[in-house]
Amino acid sequence: MNTVILPVNEYSLGQSKKIICGGGAVAFPTETVYGLGANAFDNSAVENIFKIKGRPNDNPLIVHVHKDYDLSLLVKDIPDYARALSKAYLPGPLTMVFKSCGAVASAVSCRLGTLAIRIPSHEGAQRFLEYIDLPIAAPSANISKHVSPVTAQHVYSDLNGKIELILDGGKSEGGIESTVLDCTGEIPVILRSGLITREMIEKVAGRCEQYFLKDGERARSPGMKYKHYSPNCKTMLFAFNELQDALYEYEKSNAEGVTAYLLCDDKTAQIAAVDKVLKLGKDGEEMASNLYYKLREGEEKARLIIAVAPENQNGVMEGVMNRLSKACKNS
Ligand code: AMP
Ligand code: MG
Repeated sequence: MNTVILPVNEYSLGQSKKIICGGGAVAFPTETVYGLGANAFDNSAVENIFKIKGRPNDNPLIVHVHKDYDLSLLVKDIPDYARALSKAYLPGPLTMVFKSCGAVASAVSCRLGTLAIRIPSHEGAQRFLEYIDLPIAAPSANISKHVSPVTAQHVYSDLNGKIELILDGGKSEGGIESTVLDCTGEIPVILRSGLITREMIEKVAGRCEQYFLKDGERARSPGMKYKHYSPNCKTMLFAFNELQDALYEYEKSNAEGVTAYLLCDDKTAQIAAVDKVLKLGKDGEEMASNLYYKLREGEEKARLIIAVAPENQNGVMEGVMNRLSKACKNS
């Protein structure tokens, strides 16, 4: 199969509609990362997404809709706090999980009885969703376990030959996946942290909890238990106060001819003062925006990425650290 990259325009949207309505998959830009979308009503199209990515078939997909889509066609029992959060933050990088009406294909939410809904703010994503006017089930457009894509080129390097069309909407500025919020209970519960932070949710909903997977427990959000975001090279992760150890590994590795790059925030890069550095930025937003881009750049250049965690891990940084620690798990 020949894979083409096209800008978002009337022609490419027409092609997208043909592909999606014919049971195929199209990669499209969002403000978080690129998605790989299929018609959420078409079970075999959704199953094909799992096959293309090599995604475990118990890890449910998020359904993407345009801003005027009638959610009551898909989900029920939307609590007041979720309506308030929608008003405050949508369209935007917040996914909400509700009880499902059972309208979408069973493969989408792996028979959980719930459905994750997202309304992206990216203009190209909105145009794509409006043009097709169907709910689109979409995980990130990468091979399972690999670093999520934030450019059309990243999607191409993972999925060339496996899909027909990639819509190019430039670099995804958010840079990490949406916050996933369970809205099926009295209090919203964060299942995956992201750009919409706990503080932002508390401000609107009054209360908010964070769910952490404990050893041996059945994951409330199945995606939590899988390896994720890993570059195709070795990685090491050091705490902020272990910079000297990180630098020792950097020197040793490069002296042995194993090209190592340091991945860290701007402040740490300044202190480290080394040549081979992947700088993530000065604050949570910048670091989120650059994380996957730099991990992908790193795997091209390095045989070892030595990451140093930032000192402050609050707000958006919590989402950055969640991704960084998973990316640096070597097992
Ligand atoms: P990805 O598409 O790779 O960004 O992953 C989607 C994330 O949303 C995964 O962590 C899933 O476990 C989570 N998710 C999707 N649908 C549901 C659902 N119905 N209930 C809980 N988590 C979900
Ligand atoms: Mg993903």
